[in-house]
Amino acid sequence: MQVYADNAATTKMSEIAIAAMTECYQNYYGNPSSLHSVGQEAKEKLEDARARVAACLGCESREIYFTSGGSEADNQAIISAARLGAKKGKKHIISTAFEHHAVLHTLNKLETEGFEVTLLDVRNNHNITAQQVKEAIREDTCLVTVMYANNEIGSVLPIAEIGAICKEAGIPFHTDAVQAAGHLHIDVKKQNIDMLSLSAHKFHGPKGVGVLYARRGIALQNLIEGGAQERGKRGGTENLPGICGLAAALEDACANMDENTKKVTALRDKLIAGLSQIPHCSLNGDPVNRLPGNVSFCFEGIEGESLLLYLDAQGICASSGSACTSGSLDPSHVLLAIGRVHDVAHGSLRLSLDHNNTEEEIDHILTVVPQVVSLLRNMSPVWRDLQNGTREYIL
Ligand SMILES: *Cc1c(COP(=O)(O)O)cnc(C)c1O
Repeated sequence: MQVYADNAATTKMSEIAIAAMTECYQNYYGNPSSLHSVGQEAKEKLEDARARVAACLGCESREIYFTSGGSEADNQAIISAARLGAKKGKKHIISTAFEHHAVLHTLNKLETEGFEVTLLDVRNNHNITAQQVKEAIREDTCLVTVMYANNEIGSVLPIAEIGAICKEAGIPFHTDAVQAAGHLHIDVKKQNIDMLSLSAHKFHGPKGVGVLYARRGIALQNLIEGGAQERGKRGGTENLPGICGLAAALEDACANMDENTKKVTALRDKLIAGLSQIPHCSLNGDPVNRLPGNVSFCFEGIEGESLLLYLDAQGICASSGSACTSGSLDPSHVLLAIGRVHDVAHGSLRLSLDHNNTEEEIDHILTVVPQVVSLLRNMSPVWRDLQNGTREYIL
């Protein structure tokens, strides 16, 4: 049995998105900037996609900018607000300690240019409160950038409350909604969101295409100079097939959201309940305000990488919080941010579900994971020390 449970990393494209892209490749090959009819037909297709995306987010078409994905949208939103802030002598930015690297690394870069960044502490309930944002606001704050939902541990943040606070304080508010778009209801006007990033491949669309929503009145800075595409804010011939795939996938996800949420939440809760039976483990992320498909645990006394390899051998595609970068095994910054110590953070497992998963697959996971955890613990010197009392359990 092959079980794909890594939907937070990427999703399988939907038939609807594939059909929309195929139609585009076959019939709308023109350059939307060309004045002839083939170009103008492509242009119409582009603007139609823009209007449909805008409808899904509750904004106007002209507030939608197509990008190469979530990372680019995050970079452009943050850099735009920072440049604008610097002009007014405001160089303080508020974010959280468990943002995606597309946000954190952009903030790190700005710090080297003299910006000051406050990263809100997420140890309390593995989430932040709107009150924390309120208390962090200063005279010189030029941006609040807070993710909509966390990609590793699934916590869903109080976005509407934060939006209201930022609006009252007159501070631009950006949210990385890459994990939320197509999965949670978004209404940028009601939620007072000034800028929002999303990425097609996280909701069954194609890879390499995303959106930056920027409220009218927000002055965007270009990351890519070039032609007048995207209202002059993002040069380069538009990725029309990708954009058509994105629009189709987003519409489909939004139309089926309630039904999918119901199904996926039930699978998630069954999986969480089952895995919680394993001794010395702990759920990561907000237990209540949580993405429908996210299951994230730390198991004491094991290595997440070994766990993944054994699960893969049993047909289960999952992910771990540890990222093997440049040869060194660094535990995930997200798990460290919620207060997991290094040893525990190394024993993490993320299973991210979608509506294609079945009860049988959950049963398979619930059979295999406890077996593999036992197997690995029996081979682990750390576990032996825990068992014989020379080391103390943390979980
Ligand atoms: C996947 C992801 C991104 C990056 O999106 P890409 O389109 O892959 O660049 C950014 N933020 C979050 C929360 C993500 O899950």
